[in-house]
Amino acid sequence: MNLNAASEIVDALRAAGLKVTPQRLAIVDCIAHDETHPTAQELYERLQPRFPTMAVATVYNTLDALTGIGCCRQLHMGGSTRFDPNVAPHDHAVCERCGTIRDVASSALEAPAAIALTRAAVPDFAVQRVERIYRGVCARCATT
Ligand SMILES: [Zn+2]
Ligand SMILES: [Zn+2]
Repeated sequence: MNLNAASEIVDALRAAGLKVTPQRLAIVDCIAHDETHPTAQELYERLQPRFPTMAVATVYNTLDALTGIGCCRQLHMGGSTRFDPNVAPHDHAVCERCGTIRDVASSALEAPAAIALTRAAVPDFAVQRVERIYRGVCARCATT
């Protein structure tokens, strides 16, 4: 795992000249410890009890800012944008039933070979990285 610690993210926000409000701090705290790749809407609903007056736009803006300064990545999967605090190269395993996304460590050794293969298969396209999505059924869904 290569999650950014909440304190590092806060430092990066400050360095980018962004004000660290209690709401932003709570969003950072939520995402820094979250390996479930939540959507902005999910984070909003999670923080709603603590910040009843917070606008959903605040969540979107903060996540955009975090993405802009490289503290999280946006994943476009299944029609929704999910946020990933793990900015190191890695793959994802997606449950076809409940949509849960988990991190899968990608093999650093394998990556150059995959890039070379893709370069050969897709001419006139500069491949920079390869990210795999493994699709299947998670343990929880398999037992229900
Ligand atoms: Zn599942
Ligand atoms: Zn991830």
